[in-house]
Amino acid sequence: MTPFDKHNSLKNLPGVDLLIALAKKEDRFSCIPRSVIANSIRKALDHIRQDILADIETSTDHDTILLAANILAKEKISPRLAPVINATGVVLHTNLGRSLLCEDALDNIKAIAQSYSNLELKIETGKRGLRYEAVDELICELTGAQSAIIVNNNAGAVLLALNTIAKDKQVVVSRGELVEIGGSFRVPDVMIKSGCILKEVGTTNRTHLWDYADAVSDSTGLFLKVHASNYKIEGFTASVALKDLVRLGKDKNIPIMEDLGSGTLIDFSKYGLPLEPTIGDSVRSGADIITFSGDKLLGGPQAGIIVGQKYAIDLIKKNPLTRALRIDKLTLAALESTLKLYRDEEIAIQKIPTLRMLTIPFDDICKKADVLFKTIKETIGTLADIELARLNSRPGGGSFPELDLATLCITIQPKSISVSKLEMRMRLSTPPIIGRIEDNKYILDPRTIQDGQETVISSTLAKILVKK
Ligand SMILES: *Cc1c(COP(=O)(O)O)cnc(C)c1O
Repeated sequence: MTPFDKHNSLKNLPGVDLLIALAKKEDRFSCIPRSVIANSIRKALDHIRQDILADIETSTDHDTILLAANILAKEKISPRLAPVINATGVVLHTNLGRSLLCEDALDNIKAIAQSYSNLELKIETGKRGLRYEAVDELICELTGAQSAIIVNNNAGAVLLALNTIAKDKQVVVSRGELVEIGGSFRVPDVMIKSGCILKEVGTTNRTHLWDYADAVSDSTGLFLKVHASNYKIEGFTASVALKDLVRLGKDKNIPIMEDLGSGTLIDFSKYGLPLEPTIGDSVRSGADIITFSGDKLLGGPQAGIIVGQKYAIDLIKKNPLTRALRIDKLTLAALESTLKLYRDEEIAIQKIPTLRMLTIPFDDICKKADVLFKTIKETIGTLADIELARLNSRPGGGSFPELDLATLCITIQPKSISVSKLEMRMRLSTPPIIGRIEDNKYILDPRTIQDGQETVISSTLAKILVKK
């Protein structure tokens, strides 16, 4: 286009007011606020102007502009946070929201959210009550701890506990336990923010009880053990058991804290997973303070739970940071309902999605795989090579590092498009379906696919492969 033509095209673009008036008459804009319509039209016009200036062929008729504006406006009003289908097989997938809540928790959230509640009222006396009392007692019942307190997340729990017990003092930690968790939780940094001084002992692969003993001085405030959540040191290794550290602590009059990360209330070894000490085991070892997450192996809402000896929890309750880190009533509702299920382990395993997906027997995975395989085969059988493959899922979320869980996956090799394109198109569909690629095949792992999602997965595959 000559500069003159460009000038003319720009000048002849329809005005914003006219386009808004036209949009107002259309059904597809009916639920969209006027401000969003106006902004989307401006944005659409901007794109067209840029195209004209860059000599990119573009249409400037009303319909095309309104179509573009409608897409932009719909993007703006639809929630940014939206459900996705997790076909990765990673149960505690940090990027996909970690734990799914059980039905009981969902029901309780709804009930508490839409009604006034006795959050801080003692119904029996009509006087002010403590918001966490009921759940604190439940946690003590389930873990055997003397006392408990709940905060926003486990990172907050660690920060709060360190700040309360060992501010301005040295905290002794093994070099093998200076963990970094995804999302920038690093033990040395949390130490600084909590006002404590990190005293590293031992080496990366081996730390002995005498390393801790040698580090003790007048300024020692705490022995800290941190669960190696997301890595494993193998080979020539040594670490100190919590109960031995407790004995040393008693001897030297130094409190002991354990950051369990993904604490569990059940013994997973009964279900074919490796032995992972439970929260109760840590309590019985005699640690003063134990912290863990609500939404990792526990399978509840995001929360940080601190259990331990009454004197320590009482000190923590008095720390002003506690108020800054407190949980809201919806978290409290979800946590109470989830924890109540643990009174009967069998029921907990059935009803808490995280536990169910981690412990599902291989035979049951095969049945799920079979249903999905048949549905997919029926819809796109001619458009791709579809097979069943014995692969591995991962627990994820900083639990059971490097553990493989046997699973049976559906593998798909499309005939018309590349595997990476299929992965991308699945991810960009509504709802997004998140799978993975292995050996140049698109993989769907039934472990984390929820009942009823088979049809939307196969129809999405069909849409992508038929349309290409
Ligand atoms: C996951 C984890 C944390 C952080 O817990 P959040 O609940 O994500 O805040 C802290 N320490 C360890 C050892 C962990 O595994």
